[in-house]
Amino acid sequence: MPTQLTDAPVADPPTAPAEARPDPRDSRTIRIAAGMNRPGQPPPTVPGVAVELRNVSCYYGSFRAVHNVSINVAKQRITALIGPSGCGKTTLLRTINRMNDLVPSYRAEGTIMLHGEDLFASGVDPVAIRRRVGMVFQKPNPFPKTVWENVAFGPRINGFRGNLDELVETSLRRAALWDDVKDKLKQSGMALSGGQQQRLCIARTIAVDPEVILMDEPCSALDPRSTLQIEELMAELSRDYTIVIVTHNMQQAARTSDTTIFMSMGEDRAGYVVEEGETVQMFTNPRNRLTEDYVSGRFG
Ligand code: ADP
Ligand code: MG
Repeated sequence: MPTQLTDAPVADPPTAPAEARPDPRDSRTIRIAAGMNRPGQPPPTVPGVAVELRNVSCYYGSFRAVHNVSINVAKQRITALIGPSGCGKTTLLRTINRMNDLVPSYRAEGTIMLHGEDLFASGVDPVAIRRRVGMVFQKPNPFPKTVWENVAFGPRINGFRGNLDELVETSLRRAALWDDVKDKLKQSGMALSGGQQQRLCIARTIAVDPEVILMDEPCSALDPRSTLQIEELMAELSRDYTIVIVTHNMQQAARTSDTTIFMSMGEDRAGYVVEEGETVQMFTNPRNRLTEDYVSGRFG
């Protein structure tokens, strides 16, 4: 592992052009305001990779839910994570943004590098990681607050000092929701339709300008039209963000993703990665029989 990167997580490489080097005092403000400009981010240890998992295993007490996962999540691409129920997809996502730290019986082994920075290194603040790695859940979960406050909340607690109205509008536009809600900013987010609520949750996530967006079955509670809107939005967002989507819908995985990771379970019910590859290859010419059976709907 490239320890020099974890030792200096915010240093630019010496070869970086001068204009790419931010003033460290306001790098966060610049980052949030500019939306996609991420000065000061160390280079990935593997080029083009946002998140690297090496030998990651996850446990709930003595039960091993995920066994020895080593994968690369490509930067600014869409990665689909598929596999039967219980194979550890949610556990893996919640490990990547350190949300599972909140589960008392949980622990993880292995290494996860986020843009070259070791997520499990001592001194890494899980709260900061949850801002850098946003998460969208199966059931839309807006706060019981106004539409405006749903989006403004995260930036505000992160110390954003720019124009919040502008940031709310930009985030809602980028989540393809602005036209629907521009006259309802003071209404409750809970009063929106399911698809709109999910786009509000996406707007809330991108308002703090994460590096990675994890989506755990984001469309499973939505109708086909809202599902299509979310899929179009993902394609748009993947220009700027790295996206990982868990889905049980094989058409959705095939339609939306660039790369697919297929997980299954061993005899001990520990989830592991069977195969990963370009989505087209995974769906048309998988190398592993288990993958073929799963993507063709023969089990799962
Ligand atoms: P998936 O998302 O692929 O359906 P999960 O990550 O939710 O799988 O679950 C993987 C395994 O871990 C399952 O056997 C599940 O029962 C177990 N598990 C998940 N969450 C917990 C928890 N909080 N405590 C104990 N076991 C859990
Ligand atoms: Mg799950």
